[in-house]
Amino acid sequence: MTTGSRFAMATLLLFVFSSSSHAENAKLKVLIIDGQNNHDWKATTPILRRALADCGRFTVDRATAPGQGKDMAAFRPEFAAYDAVVSNYNGDPWSQETKQAFVDYVQSGGGFVLVHAADNAFPNWSEYNTMIGLAGWGGRDERAGPYVYFQNGKLVRDDSPGPCGYHGQQHEFQIVVREANHPITQDMPTRWMHTQDELYDQLRGPATKMTVLATAFSDPAKSGTGRDEPILWTVDYGRGRIFHTVLGHADYSMNCIGFITTLQRGTEWAATGQVTVEIPDNFPAADKVSVGK
Ligand code: ZN
Repeated sequence: MTTGSRFAMATLLLFVFSSSSHAENAKLKVLIIDGQNNHDWKATTPILRRALADCGRFTVDRATAPGQGKDMAAFRPEFAAYDAVVSNYNGDPWSQETKQAFVDYVQSGGGFVLVHAADNAFPNWSEYNTMIGLAGWGGRDERAGPYVYFQNGKLVRDDSPGPCGYHGQQHEFQIVVREANHPITQDMPTRWMHTQDELYDQLRGPATKMTVLATAFSDPAKSGTGRDEPILWTVDYGRGRIFHTVLGHADYSMNCIGFITTLQRGTEWAATGQVTVEIPDNFPAADKVSVGK
């Protein structure tokens, strides 16, 4: 082999190697956190995992915390190794070291996505509550921050005292996009019908650096508030991006194509600040749910 052809072969091998490793590198690394929840996390984490893996944009790992009342000291996920962390966790406080590692991760630009009851967690962890914008339950009240909702088309911050976190009977409800210029909601139908789920209302929190992307009307006929309640929103925290969806009470709720699509797009945005995952043709219509597997 001449020097020239050796060089050509080496260049070719380098090209083959780097193009295959580029394909792997192009996928964003996601870590799902679970292990405790007042919901059936063993049934729902596989749905979250599949929704993220199936769109081809992510590789997905999972960190399962010890059960309720167990020693949490050994629960130390390597947050910094991931582009986004997705929480399906609502349970015991983490160790001080793990909490600090998580704050450092988001502060320095990590993406964070939380699903449904993950916003019930950690009522006494102020950085967490700032990251998630609004929360529910956990003994929270007006000390957690204002109620935030839409009324007459305007965002309201309501400081009146009262409990934090409620939902009426599960039902199908219509989602209304309030911020169409955000990468997550761009090109999304303004109204789409979500399948059977809980509609969280009376959430409270610091609500700083928060952008409400979508709301749903909390119908008094379903023992709701009569307000348009935030359903999807984002928060900026340090250099990190947070996507918060209150949807996803159960496996059947998560099978909504609207839930799956907003999870995928929200996770990509949290990881990168941009969205390439497309809105599928079978996305729900204004008055018609669309459920997949
Ligand atoms: Zn629930």
